[in-house]
Formats: sequence, C-alpha cells, structure tokens
Amino acid sequence: MHAPILVTGGAGYIGSHTVRLLAAQGRHIVVLDNLVFGHAQALITPGVELVVGDVGDGALVRALFAKHRFGAVVHFAAYAYVGESVTNPLKYYQNNTAEPIKLLQVMQESGCQVFVFSSTCATYGVPQQLPITESHPQAPISPYGRSKLMVEWMLADCGHAWGLRSACLRYFNASGCSPDGLIGEDHDPETHLIPRVLMAVTGEIDHLDVFGTDYPTPDGTCIRDYIHVEDLADAHARALDHLVAGGASLCCNLGTGVGVSVKQIIAATEELTGRPVPVLFGPRRPGDPAMLVADPSLAKRLLGWTATRTDVREMIRPAWLWLTGPYRGRYRANGSS
Ligand code: UDP
Repeated sequence: MHAPILVTGGAGYIGSHTVRLLAAQGRHIVVLDNLVFGHAQALITPGVELVVGDVGDGALVRALFAKHRFGAVVHFAAYAYVGESVTNPLKYYQNNTAEPIKLLQVMQESGCQVFVFSSTCATYGVPQQLPITESHPQAPISPYGRSKLMVEWMLADCGHAWGLRSACLRYFNASGCSPDGLIGEDHDPETHLIPRVLMAVTGEIDHLDVFGTDYPTPDGTCIRDYIHVEDLADAHARALDHLVAGGASLCCNLGTGVGVSVKQIIAATEELTGRPVPVLFGPRRPGDPAMLVADPSLAKRLLGWTATRTDVREMIRPAWLWLTGPYRGRYRANGSS
C-alpha cells in the first residue's frame, strides 16, 4: 500500500483532473484547497478527502502530515492571472512563493521528500529559440512567472540541503477537460482563449477579443502549444512514480510540440460547433510573446510521457461539451468561483 499523497489546489482545473486520475489508479489522495478558485464539486471520486484551508497555514499542514504521513506532495495551489500579477505582485509572491515555504518546512520536519510542482512555460519569458527546450534561459517577464521560478529554485536548494526530490512540470497551455464532461474548466474571471471562444459562441460573452493580428506568424495571431489537461494529469502520475521509486529530480516541459494560432482555434471551433464565433480584432495584449511551443522530448525520455492528443479539436470538443452540458452549473452552487 502506497503512502497517501497530499494534493494542494486539487479542487482547481488541472488539480481536479489529476486527482481524478490518481484516485482511479488506486492512490490515497488528500486534497488541501482553500476553494478561493477551486470547486469542491470537482472532486468526484469517492474516497478523496477535501480539507479546506491554506498551504501557508503551518499548523493545519503539520496536523495533516501527522495524521496521514504523506509519501509525496503534488502542489498546484497558486494564483495564475498574469496581468493581475503585474498590478499586484505581492499577492503572487505571497501565495505562490512564500506559502510553499511553509509546506516545504513541514515536509522537511516530517521526512517527506517527494514534491511534484506545477510550474509553467512562463518561467522562460520571451523565447530566444523555438521550440523551447528545458535548457532555454529562464527569464520570466511577469511576477507570475518569477513567483513560480523562485519555487523551482527553492526546490533545487532543498534537494541539495536535505534530499528533497522534485519534478518541476512546466506546462504550456492547459486546455480541454474530461471527455465525459463531468469536470472541466471554470475560472472566474475566465481569461483563457478556448473557453472564451466557446463562451462567445454560446453568447455568454458578446464576442471574443483577438489580442493582436500583426504578430510575425503566418496569420498574424499568436501561436501557442495547447496541451490536454488529461495528458497533464498523466504526466503528474508518471512524475510521482518516478520520484517515489527513487528517481532523481527533474524539470521538464509538458506540451505537444504543435503550435496553433488564435485564428486556427476560432476556425476549429466554428467547424466543430457549426456556429460562428463573433470576433473583434484588437490590439496586442501586453506581455504576449508571438509564439510559445514546447520541445516535449525530455519528458518522453525521463518519464515515458508524450501527449496523446495533439489535434486542438480534441481539446475544444470536450470543452464545448462541458460548457454546454449540465455539470458546470454545479460548480457555482456553493458560491465559490
Ligand atoms: N487570447 C485572445 N483573446 C482572449 C484570450 C486570449 O486573443 O480573449 C490570445 C492570447 O493573446 C494568447 C492566446 O490567445 O496569444 C492564449 O492566451 P491564454 O490567455 O489562453 O493563455 P496564455 O498563453 O496567455 O497562457
């Protein structure tokens, strides 16, 4: 029997898909989530325990470690609005960088030495070459990216100092949801492209603003690497197995290696839904690089992981099912966003 796993932020979008997979694999999962952005209703697997609280609440975290004797931590809990991080950086440094210090202190005290970390391609900043490999310089251009990069540094230092083994998983653009539409993406406010394109189709928002049409890309709009959230979840399971089996710390990109433009997302959505996307072409959004595409080959070498879905329609289709299906409404029933 494996030791229980603590999943912070497990009621959020990527966290809940990962919890669902880990629990289906028979692992004992305890979720710690303050429900500021997470949804209790996203934890649909019987036996998954939800503790409502903050990662930075040392007394609570210490009591949880004493009770469950966790063998590993998967840490998702963080704020992720890049624009807000520019106007309110301390909120991000507090939540994303300072709070995990408390968690790591308790791990050190408890002898728990496995940590899977939700990192981001935002730690690279503006790409100097494409596709982006893990050896690309890390020069984030937002407080959000810096708040995550500092945790990567802390994990490396804890590795040297007391043997922590960590996996820093640098996500590209998480998208899609479980194909049965039982859980999905529900941010408030929603800023991500695919849900906003779909919300423009249903009329939940008037139109989609396309941020910039003058980028040096074939159709002038930004190119991103959209990675299915269930593929991300699979990478977390593999990273856990690798570390729990005694594997060395690693940092790797999680993407498909395929770049898709904003206009291509709009066209794919129109084709899939059979409905037009009302669009307003506008100026660039500050801080958006023209292209972000992963070289995902290191994750394949180290974890045997590759994205099983590389066609963006495979992300848009379940997201549409989720948005128009019956389950999303339940997320809002308890008033949390
Ligand atoms: N985007 C857009 N309109 C929107 C939201 C996003 O044109 O309402 C563009 C954005 O400029 C970027 C891409 O879509 O080029 C993906 O943005 P998203 O916010 O989903 O993810 P990010 O790449 O910023 O992490």
